[in-house]
Amino acid sequence: MCGIVGVVGHKNARDILMQGLEKLEYRGYDSAGIFVTSAQQGVQETGQLIKSVGRIADLREKIGIDVAGTAGIGHTRWATHGKPAAHNAHPHTSSDGRFVLVHNGVIENYLALKQDYLSADHFDGETDTEVAVHLIAALAEQEGLDTLEAFKKALTLIEGSYAFALMDRTRPDVIYVAKNKSPLLIGLGDGYHMVCSDAMAMIRETSEFMEIHDHELVILTKDTVEIHDLAGNIVSRESYTAELDLSDIGKGTYPFYMLKEIDEQPAVMRKLSQVYADENGQVTVDQGIIEALVNADRIYIIAAGTSYHAGYASKYLLEELTEKPVELGIASEWGYNMPRLSDKPFFIFLSQSGETADSRQVLVKVNALGLPSLTVTNVPGSTLSREASFTMLLHAGPEIAVASTKAYTAQIATLAFLAKAVGTAIQNDKAQAFDIVHELSIVAQTIETTLSEKAWIENKITGLLATTRNAFYIGRGQDYYVSMEASLKLKEISYIQCEGFAAGELKHGTIALIEDQTPVIALISNNPKVAAHTRGNVSEVVARGASVVTIVERAAAIDGDDIIVNTVHPYLSSIAMVVPTQLIAYYASLHRGLDVDKPRNLAKSVTVE
Ligand code: GLU
Repeated sequence: MCGIVGVVGHKNARDILMQGLEKLEYRGYDSAGIFVTSAQQGVQETGQLIKSVGRIADLREKIGIDVAGTAGIGHTRWATHGKPAAHNAHPHTSSDGRFVLVHNGVIENYLALKQDYLSADHFDGETDTEVAVHLIAALAEQEGLDTLEAFKKALTLIEGSYAFALMDRTRPDVIYVAKNKSPLLIGLGDGYHMVCSDAMAMIRETSEFMEIHDHELVILTKDTVEIHDLAGNIVSRESYTAELDLSDIGKGTYPFYMLKEIDEQPAVMRKLSQVYADENGQVTVDQGIIEALVNADRIYIIAAGTSYHAGYASKYLLEELTEKPVELGIASEWGYNMPRLSDKPFFIFLSQSGETADSRQVLVKVNALGLPSLTVTNVPGSTLSREASFTMLLHAGPEIAVASTKAYTAQIATLAFLAKAVGTAIQNDKAQAFDIVHELSIVAQTIETTLSEKAWIENKITGLLATTRNAFYIGRGQDYYVSMEASLKLKEISYIQCEGFAAGELKHGTIALIEDQTPVIALISNNPKVAAHTRGNVSEVVARGASVVTIVERAAAIDGDDIIVNTVHPYLSSIAMVVPTQLIAYYASLHRGLDVDKPRNLAKSVTVE
């Protein structure tokens, strides 16, 4: 997590850094800082270092117009070591102030490094990062190494994940950059160069980028980009142009990104039909992916958080159409506890950002085993995309709100195209009969109808969720999987303790928690096999005093239901059914006076394990 930005050679480094940090704030927002200096070779510069606890806006208030320069680095933090406080905010400096460092990631052996190399040093804070910058200084001083060599040596000693941007006050015309596991890329400008965690935060300045790979070190000046491997060899790398649109990352007239992103879902559904089907409605998924899946005997979906729930929501459809069992894996568990695999496994990694460190840990293992994999992600060129055998993109546009909405529905729709393509290839009857483009267009219309009923939904839940400490979502089958996601969404942004339960499971224990006015939200899609049973479970909680809200597909609705969702194809019901729950989470957060887009303790792309 966290965001890093650096620039060298630009006449207004302060503004570039601050604008970059504002765009990166979704990645971490407990404290922030910048270091600004003048990029003049041969001129020793003191530079200015400003740090603040809190949001980028708090940092901005501390930065006067006197802060000026042509080079610098900035950071917005999501604390892993040491509480959010100004003294733990980055950039960190060496004791003599010569080296200035920002870091994203976790240095696993920082305590050992401190003990072995830095026992005499005084530290201002508790971060692992401060140890890294002291280490670089110690190596430079004690071993007489120049900055590049000291940095390189430090990298050979450091274990863990990092994206580093380092400056040396005696060489203010250079930014030294390195990465391992954490995302970082170079932005190329005319007469200046940048480094950043996310291309989106640089697009105001450039659309030309260069990747950095793990265990590489980059020396950045205003006119040159030199990539080294750790053995000292110079690596050549082509740059690429990214088609990114500045308007995509604006909020427009919306009060929060989350609401904008919820509203964008019909357009995303239609976009996916354009991307993954031709004008005759034939699905156009990469033949290599189809062949690899046809050859597999089992599909393993690896993901975390909302993406994990999207995996569950896609399981039924994938199994029905591909005729293969689908197993779900929590990425952080599978990285270290990989269960026994089938003979011919195929792995699907679901990750909005494509940078999820937990998933990457599994992908590294999958690659070491020589197994085929597909990453389904919103971010082209992301680490998981680069390292998997195949990629399918979500085409959802940037998702900035920390709570994921449109990426979840796009993941299910994208996997539906995959299921249809594989099912068609194996001549599965159900796949052949499933007109996905048509069905998805109905889903898009259904979402639009739900979105037109925002005021009704807001009204239904405002009293219910205004002050409660806990709540439940219940459902069966597909609705259970949506319940898991719905409850995560509510937890994330309203801080209501909420559980998503298989409706039939409540009576096996958890019903003990139901008391007078406990909010229970029941999801009932049009599945005649289970709808009546879920209604039975609703009666059981009503009998114990629960306040129930039902979200029901029109074909299954009865008098007295609360939120009606137009009926869609059963394969795609999760997409339609989740939208009211996204709105419920949004309004619950709003009415509790919380920051919907930046909930406490969270950050958008989880790039640490
Ligand atoms: N481990 C570092 C810290 O706690 C960096 C965290 C981050 O990636 O924001 O400061």
